[in-house]
Amino acid sequence: MQLNVLTVPGDGIGTEVTREAVKVLEKVVSKYGHSLKLTDALLGGIAIHQTGSPFPDDTARKALDADATLMGAVGLPEFDNAPPEKRPEKGLLGIRKILGVYANLRPVKAWPALIESSPLKNHIVEGVDMIIVRELNGGIYYGTPRGIEGSGDTERGTNTMTYTRAEIARITRMGFHLARGRKKKLTSVDKSNVLETSQLWRRVVNEIAPEFPDVELEHILVDNCAMQLILRPKQFDVVVMENMFGDILSDEGAVLAGSIGMLPSASIGERKPNGAFVGLYEPVHGSAPDIAGQNKANPLGAIGSVSAMLEYSFGLKEEAAAVNAAMEAVLNSGRVTADLKPKGTPATTSEVGDAVANAI
Ligand code: NAD
Repeated sequence: MQLNVLTVPGDGIGTEVTREAVKVLEKVVSKYGHSLKLTDALLGGIAIHQTGSPFPDDTARKALDADATLMGAVGLPEFDNAPPEKRPEKGLLGIRKILGVYANLRPVKAWPALIESSPLKNHIVEGVDMIIVRELNGGIYYGTPRGIEGSGDTERGTNTMTYTRAEIARITRMGFHLARGRKKKLTSVDKSNVLETSQLWRRVVNEIAPEFPDVELEHILVDNCAMQLILRPKQFDVVVMENMFGDILSDEGAVLAGSIGMLPSASIGERKPNGAFVGLYEPVHGSAPDIAGQNKANPLGAIGSVSAMLEYSFGLKEEAAAVNAAMEAVLNSGRVTADLKPKGTPATTSEVGDAVANAI
């Protein structure tokens, strides 16, 4: 297979972890006999420095041409007080929007070697392996009317949570498809005891369920889901939800994995004519100015994003599993970065990248 991949390293540790992720991608591609066309583009603070814009037209064009985009992180402290259109984060929203990605996938996996890093008891975390699927384009973050009006005691803030049948249906199908390729269980999260959007959500999910008779479906109220994620996280396989619920619960899920440096993410859109899903893959963390340039950052969130890209955009499950197995081998070896609190001297970013590439 020819993999046409755009890399957008961004700022701070974004460049450092992306370098390691590319190293691993090149290794897995050559090992399995595929070919790789890599293109590079600017985004965020570095793009402002070099072109005046956080999201240059050249980057937009390249992202639309690529099969998948691998991103690092954006953000530089010098722009903290800049106006919104001149902030690095504007580039992030721009690339997500132009690609039309509507599903944010956050795999949450408890790596055996990191069980001790989780704040939860070992027996609760052991064996956790789920994907949180968050709707990314709708809901209360985009609904209108919105705003703040009036003054004094009657000054009022308004946001509107709204979903169409089509928006619910496409994210539901994405959830069912993912569940079909895993443990065949889909949990749909809503607040249908109170919200009309959730009542429609539950109805549409139930209508789609017969298309996937091999997948077990369950519904759970969002407040109970928040509790169950901590009490019995192992019960979940694929968990699908609207935008704001996903924003909140995916951070709760992140705690299960130990360090923010471990977490990959995938944002997925429609299928392209060649069958690949449009996808934007990035670690969950930011540009970490406090450790940037020191070869200290944990690259495993970025490397895990390569695994997600192989699986979701290219359907290369075996290759994705090979990356995960190599990551696991490196975690078990104990040669990991400082954030994972190794017993001996911490490994550097590039040492961890080399070790994962060598383990493939
Ligand atoms: P951050 O994720 O960059 O850092 C939070 C803490 O986690 C820091 O102490 C950092 O050292 C540590 N950390 C993060 N990633 C790590 C890794 N891979 N290995 C080891 N330690 C790691 O969040 P922040 O400090 O709130 O934000 C810094 C900048 O990043 C800001 O400009 C912010 O806007 C931006 N940001 C960008 C994204 C993105 O590009 N998707 C996401 C979050 C924050």
